[in-house]
Amino acid sequence: MSFKIAIDGPAGAGKSTIAKRAAAELGFLYVDTGAMYRAIALGLLRMKTDISSGEALANALSGIEVGLGYENGTQKVFLNGEDVSPLIRTEEVGKMASSAASKPQVRMKLTQLQREIAEKRDVLMDGRDIGTVILPDAQLKIYLTASVETRAQRRYRELCEKGEKAVLEEIAADIRERDFRDMNRETAPLRQAEDAVRIDSSDMTVEEVTGQIVSLVRERQGTLC
Ligand code: C5P
Repeated sequence: MSFKIAIDGPAGAGKSTIAKRAAAELGFLYVDTGAMYRAIALGLLRMKTDISSGEALANALSGIEVGLGYENGTQKVFLNGEDVSPLIRTEEVGKMASSAASKPQVRMKLTQLQREIAEKRDVLMDGRDIGTVILPDAQLKIYLTASVETRAQRRYRELCEKGEKAVLEEIAADIRERDFRDMNRETAPLRQAEDAVRIDSSDMTVEEVTGQIVSLVRERQGTLC
């Protein structure tokens, strides 16, 4: 049986950075499910889909195929066969992903695919509903969070380093808005699974959080055999 690790948490808690490192250290496949929602969002934006119309959304989704691939251990996400990995990290795509992710039709499209990936080998999957919906039988569930202020500061620094204009208060407001949408949607809202280990990364380094997750996995692998 494969070993499954589910990491959930709000935007900006450091999930992808930490998940990538922990997966590499453990030799697990890393699956960033947010990238899959972002690929769908890009497809919807390209088609100028009015996602408030169920019919328009269903039509658009029937023309969208999402796939995952790996190149030198790095995940690539494909939209109808096109590698869209470099195109999905914009604020516009992030906002559309968060809105589209509240639609059951969109979630249904990705649920099966994500479960299939996890059946085949040891995976570390991150997202919002991995421990609660996608992999409820994961051997380790982590709920990784950080204060809004810390997450806004991190995002602010990232944007400044890229030479982009950023206003801290606006970033914090965006984070609050996205948290609210993710936590209050009807389908698969972001919440901590009952059996998840909660880690607050506000005052921790990437190395400390990664180390804690790797230790937890080794502990549980030890008790499993
Ligand atoms: O993690 P990332 O910011 O790339 O995800 C983009 C959006 O996709 C999130 O704001 C969230 O609304 C949605 N998402 C989700 N379920 C997942 C992964 C992402 O609803 N498993």
